[in-house]
Amino acid sequence: MGIESQWIWMDDKLVPYEQATIHFNSTALHYGLAVFEGIRSYNTANGPAIFRAREHAKRLLDSAKVLGFRPLPWTVEDLVHAFTEVVRANQFNECYIRPVIYLAEGGWNLCVDNGRLALAISAWEWKNYLGQEAMERGIRANISTFTHHHPNVMMTKAKISGNYANSALAKTESVRLGFDEAIMLDPQGYLAECTGENIFLVYKGKVLTTPTAAVLEGITRDALLTLMNDLGYEVVDQMISRDQLYIADEVFVCGTAAEVIALREIDYRTIGEGKMGPVTRSIQQAYHSAVHGEHLRSSEWLEYVNPPVA
Ligand code: PMP
Repeated sequence: MGIESQWIWMDDKLVPYEQATIHFNSTALHYGLAVFEGIRSYNTANGPAIFRAREHAKRLLDSAKVLGFRPLPWTVEDLVHAFTEVVRANQFNECYIRPVIYLAEGGWNLCVDNGRLALAISAWEWKNYLGQEAMERGIRANISTFTHHHPNVMMTKAKISGNYANSALAKTESVRLGFDEAIMLDPQGYLAECTGENIFLVYKGKVLTTPTAAVLEGITRDALLTLMNDLGYEVVDQMISRDQLYIADEVFVCGTAAEVIALREIDYRTIGEGKMGPVTRSIQQAYHSAVHGEHLRSSEWLEYVNPPVA
């Protein structure tokens, strides 16, 4: 996977890729004291556009607040401006954007006060997170032996870098076992989310998803709720058990990196027909047209990188 680009945003300016380095003595590295976002820019008829840039900027600031970083010198507007600068400077049409707010100095006493906060933003061309085939065929997943974070152990509303050791434990185990993705249960044994995606089931004509209390409130999940409402699907959020997954007609996951992907098999049980089902397909198509500027919802969700001069 190539994660190169020409320019990276560091400390309020663009620097060449090779110069975007941080010192080894950084608690962001040692203790995971950083927060991040994953955002995508898509090609549209009006040039590259960032999907829900403001919502991602807001969640980045919220994550920083949850981790206790203060004061935060950036506003949502500053961040959206910086995201668009990075896409524009690298002349990308479609790319993944990765901003990180981290403790560049301080934090050695495990207190995040009195350090120096920094913002860096990278972008790269990342086509299919789970592979091209996954988009059409769906993927195979298992229930992880690792439990999802308890919300009073690691803050599940925040994309804190250190949280992702939990995702990496689960994902690595699943991939080594021959699966594509891990499904994580919460400490009570109910369905939580995947390592980087929220999850939905289609069962008896309804779409079910997990309550948001203890999972990351995905921005893709939120967009899909709107699109499903537009499509006339009834969506219910409720506690979901492991065996409900096995007998669902369709299961799909969603996230910025993964987009909308069907799960065709879970724990060696075929889900539905063992391929992407009609509900998942309609939602995947609606999402695809929304992100590419071809949907009625696109105008409220897209931040054009090169807005037309009035
Ligand atoms: N859950 C987790 C744990 C994630 O890391 C992500 C990816 N950010 C998601 C869900 C999906 O969130 P989004 O749709 O905002 O990318």
